[in-house]
Amino acid sequence: MLLITCPWCGEREESEFSYGHEAHIKRPENPEQCSDAEWADYLFMRKNIKGPQLERWAHTAGCRRWFNVARNTHSNEILAIYKMGEQAPKDVMALINGDKKR
Ligand SMILES: [Zn+2]
Repeated sequence: MLLITCPWCGEREESEFSYGHEAHIKRPENPEQCSDAEWADYLFMRKNIKGPQLERWAHTAGCRRWFNVARNTHSNEILAIYKMGEQAPKDVMALINGDKKR
């Protein structure tokens, strides 16, 4: 059983939460100037990394608030949890950026 710590409610069972999608997806500043391919890339294309990844989760059976989770998708280990609008911890970013160099 995976335990997830909601930033507002504390530690709860995974079944109370819903995975949303990859975190920190930036909406194009001028969507009308995007090509169809660029817009489709923004809407649909995700990294789906095997390893450390930044994700959005919601506490759907609790406070219903969204937050960010840094999770290793291979081991299911949660590396960090942080609120919306915050940046991922530096040690997590170093781990993710280190993995990209391989
Ligand atoms: Zn909550």
